[in-house]
Amino acid sequence: MTTFVLATHNEKKKRELLAILQPHLGDETEVRTAAEAGVGDIPETGITFAENALIKARAAARATGLTAIADDSGICVDVLGGAPGILSARWAGRHGDDQANLELLLAQLSDIAPEHRGAQFRCAAAAVTADGREFTAEGVMPGRLASGPAGEHGFGYDPIFVPEGSTRTAAELTPEEKNARSHRRIAFDRLAELLAEELGRRG
Ligand code: IMP
Repeated sequence: MTTFVLATHNEKKKRELLAILQPHLGDETEVRTAAEAGVGDIPETGITFAENALIKARAAARATGLTAIADDSGICVDVLGGAPGILSARWAGRHGDDQANLELLLAQLSDIAPEHRGAQFRCAAAAVTADGREFTAEGVMPGRLASGPAGEHGFGYDPIFVPEGSTRTAAELTPEEKNARSHRRIAFDRLAELLAEELGRRG
């Protein structure tokens, strides 16, 4: 039995991650969350998504002696030069205030025409094994910002993000529709392949 610890305290993200990871992990695996494994909040002191994902995975692996999996993600807006980026969760000043964050972003783009509202969700996924082997993978979901919020699903900026090829916001998609092509899906599919290869090879 292989046990992984998932270094996130965000409930909604945890559910998305579990849905994405489960098919890769097989029957001989168990996943514990950071809270279940007794891992506290880990400060995100990096300046890239990959650095922050690795910082969280390293800390959780060290604290538990288990293989740890973490991610860091955010929204990058073209006309803002890639911001909010790693500051997405605290763009309006307070960590995790999804409503304030998306309202501020909408206000900042209020004069920007539809054709210039390009944006991407980005995710870096990281795994650190108990003996210190490190893996990272990245995923991008391109799209654009809507002029106002719509939809009830998802979290964060989902109500104002319209994925490429869609006429609905990410919050109007079902979780299955969003997960099928999300930045997190792409990053974790890649990470799971790297891990399966490595763990299969070296145990
Ligand atoms: P993290 O928890 O440090 O990775 O911060 C992620 C932040 O980026 C969240 O608080 C959201 O604001 C935003 N974000 C990342 N992925 C998504 C997504 O799939 N939908 C909506 N917002 C997202």
